[in-house]
Amino acid sequence: MRRPLEGGPVATELQKFVTVARRAPTKRPAEVRRRDFAEIHRAFEPAEAAAQAARCAQCGIPFCQVHCPLGNNIPDWLMLTASGRLDEAYEMAAATNTFPEICGRICPQDRLCEGNCVIEAGFGGVTIGAVETFITETAFARGLVTPVRPRRERAQSVGIVGAGPAGLAAAERLRRRGYRVAIYDRYDRIGGLLVYGIPNFKLEKQVVARRAALLAEGGVVFHSNFAVGRDASLGELRQRHDAVLLACGVYAARVLMVPGAGLAGVVQAIDYLTASNRVGLGDRLADFDSGVLDARGKDVVVIGGGDTAMDCVRTAVRQGARSVTCLYRRDRDNMPGSRREVAHAEEEGVRFVWLAAPEALLGDGAVRAVRAVRMRLGGADVDGRQTPQPIAGSRFDLACDLAIQALGFDPGDVPAALAAPELAVTRWGTVKADFATLATSLDGIFAAGDIVRGASLVVWAIRDGREAADSIHAYLAARAAPAAAVAAE
Ligand code: FAD
Ligand code: SF4
Ligand code: SF4
Repeated sequence: MRRPLEGGPVATELQKFVTVARRAPTKRPAEVRRRDFAEIHRAFEPAEAAAQAARCAQCGIPFCQVHCPLGNNIPDWLMLTASGRLDEAYEMAAATNTFPEICGRICPQDRLCEGNCVIEAGFGGVTIGAVETFITETAFARGLVTPVRPRRERAQSVGIVGAGPAGLAAAERLRRRGYRVAIYDRYDRIGGLLVYGIPNFKLEKQVVARRAALLAEGGVVFHSNFAVGRDASLGELRQRHDAVLLACGVYAARVLMVPGAGLAGVVQAIDYLTASNRVGLGDRLADFDSGVLDARGKDVVVIGGGDTAMDCVRTAVRQGARSVTCLYRRDRDNMPGSRREVAHAEEEGVRFVWLAAPEALLGDGAVRAVRAVRMRLGGADVDGRQTPQPIAGSRFDLACDLAIQALGFDPGDVPAALAAPELAVTRWGTVKADFATLATSLDGIFAAGDIVRGASLVVWAIRDGREAADSIHAYLAARAAPAAAVAAE
């Protein structure tokens, strides 16, 4: 048992996991949420949040915290929430997480904090993500989340390539230290995959827009519709700024290598989801209006088993598809996506065909069916995952007039894309960055988020952004006033 915070509740008011059942915020009924793109959970009421927070066992070694990529001080903010000290709970949550209300909504908690909560096995883990969202939304409602006001302004400037979570987290932390910060993004809106990848039913766009507005008010300058590599080379950006952060994500979608993959009606998940998000934001798109990227009335087959595939199947349901099937070559226990998302999809009427892989896409000009083969799981590969192997004679066809490929992303040719041939990359094509400092092979250029890790999670992007900001600060402070300046901060 941890020592209670000063003024916190006594031990008997916590550790309620034996008497209080785990309850997630109420989910809207599947038949209702199938018809719209609004978030599926209602927010906690204050009494619910306090009761759920009070279930925490206040572990001496909190495994929830160990498995949170940001090392959030979870037991302490649960204790503060349980005792109604919500302002302090927010301060504590915000000390380690730049966007707690976003992580609370979209972290795969079943694989991170909640999945490692010690009471998970016998009683059901504490609803950490929902409490984190509650604390932060309450702080917004009380006017506690305000734009950054640096104590001193500095002359040095940092250019950030990419306005996704890694770039935004770094921007916030650098502005807090008084640097001039400019973010360049090739898109028209701020947020990267938070806006154009992740659907509204997981993360409503106004949640991201609210953060973007706060950053702009705090002095971060956004240059939208600005593609580095097209509108300026990386070298030119480096001339403009004292340091540069690359936070440009990974966008080269993996493609199916089977006959028929070029048929009309075979599309990429990122194009499909971006179109859906744009339409939700009020944009008009020719490919959506013409039906190319609209699932309405179609038999949809989504190929893949990750979170992107789950987002596609659930988007197709909401667009009014006739049927939605997810085809995945491994089984439920070996899929990369979150179990929670699969459960949501099943409730919403998605059919899963496990242990099956596409062999060909059939059709005459446009796709009409997916020809698949059943798989069995064989020996483990170098990563320890069982390799799927086709079962002879098990071929079957699935009717399909929209096939969505959700097979993951690679970085593509980053040096070419950024017009920086001298930038070193790894053998996977991600930007090579020092493990501790996130410095790249080029002086004054750092990197963070998916472009370093490969396709990952928002919470890791935030962590990288924060760490890169600290490294940039150390780099710039050392140049401005050698040694002493860094030590003083
Ligand atoms: P991004 O969010 O990709 O942002 C990169 C930005 O850089 C983009 O805005 C892009 O326009 C810009 N950019 C790229 N190249 C250039 C250039 N040359 N010049 C200027 N700008 C450029 N993670 C979760 O934790 N939970 C989820 O539920 C979840 N769901 C996901 C669903 C989908 C469909 C996808 C694709 C990913 C999902 N992820 C999820 C992963 C998560 O979104 C990413 O790991 C995270 O957004 C990475 O952040 P980032 O800042 O590194 O990159
Ligand atoms: Fe859990 Fe994510 Fe919040 Fe960490 S940031 S406590 S992993 S929801
Ligand atoms: Fe509380 Fe669970 Fe974390 Fe233990 S592991 S401190 S019970 S949230």
